[in-house]
Amino acid sequence: MIAPHVRFPYERITGIIGMSLGHTLSPLMHNTAFKEVNADFKYGVFQVRPDMVGHLFEAVRKFNIRGLNVTIPYKQTVMEYTDELSDEASTIGAVNTVVNENGRLIGYNTDADGVEVSLRRFAHRIAGTSVVVYGAGGAARAVISTLASSFAPSKIVIVNRTPGHATTIAETFRRKCSKTTFIVANTDESIVQETGAASTIVNTTSIGMHPDVNGTPLPDSVQIRADQIVFDIVYTPLETALLRQARNAGALTVSGLDMLLGQGAKAFELFTQLRFPMDAARAALLRELTSRQTT
Ligand code: NAP
Repeated sequence: MIAPHVRFPYERITGIIGMSLGHTLSPLMHNTAFKEVNADFKYGVFQVRPDMVGHLFEAVRKFNIRGLNVTIPYKQTVMEYTDELSDEASTIGAVNTVVNENGRLIGYNTDADGVEVSLRRFAHRIAGTSVVVYGAGGAARAVISTLASSFAPSKIVIVNRTPGHATTIAETFRRKCSKTTFIVANTDESIVQETGAASTIVNTTSIGMHPDVNGTPLPDSVQIRADQIVFDIVYTPLETALLRQARNAGALTVSGLDMLLGQGAKAFELFTQLRFPMDAARAALLRELTSRQTT
């Protein structure tokens, strides 16, 4: 929190814009990181209604505010306020970080970095295999784009409550990534069969997220195998019901914490040009998430 009587340079102010930010961990992650590397930056919360988004970006330009992370539901809306998009942001079709470079607002998508960080130790097991992605929202686009561009799976199968959203994503990425086959599974039989045949299962839906912690996106008839990788991008709780099920089956599990840290690290580096102190940030997030689980 910036004390009202202290004049703080606007060009070292950063933050997050979203609609409902009561539980966001981004201020803790970034302010811990700034402190750890002695960077004189601050990270605040800009909880705004849709009709205020344009005004906030006007202020970012006028006051030369350094940059903002962007979360639900503005990852696509903010694209119209940027002057330029990174390759990832334009491929994914969403922006989660805006950086002000001397008055030019550049839109990035660092969720892609979060996915890379989360899965890179399994790259050799994903290449040439089939991956099933549950969900077809904003995060699914970043996951699917990064899987296709960096991990070379032969097939990506998308499963979603609203199949039309999955079809739109499959069509978009079919045009962009010709080396991977994109299909939508929307019958119980095909979902069970495709999930069973996959090397990797990714949950990008909000199922399992606090407070509905017992939910899992997988149909009951799917049995996770010990040789599968299960990545759940939800990070509250740290071990979701899906990850617990995967751990009990002996599978390799990846929590959403790695993605949170990976996307935050890239955004921090874009804001400050400094290296992100991963260990300090991870420790702060783990402390907070653990205390939330026990309260
Ligand atoms: P989003 O754009 O709102 O998409 C939500 C997705 O979840 C859609 O596919 C939606 O299906 C599905 N869904 C929601 N409720 C459902 C339900 N009750 N049953 C079945 N499907 C349901 O959200 P998002 O930005 O993609 O984020 C999704 C989750 O990822 C959130 O929990 C978010 O916190 C997490 N996330 C984590 C990170 C990280 O760094 N670890 C980064 C980004 C997001 P429909 O298409 O049918 O609506």
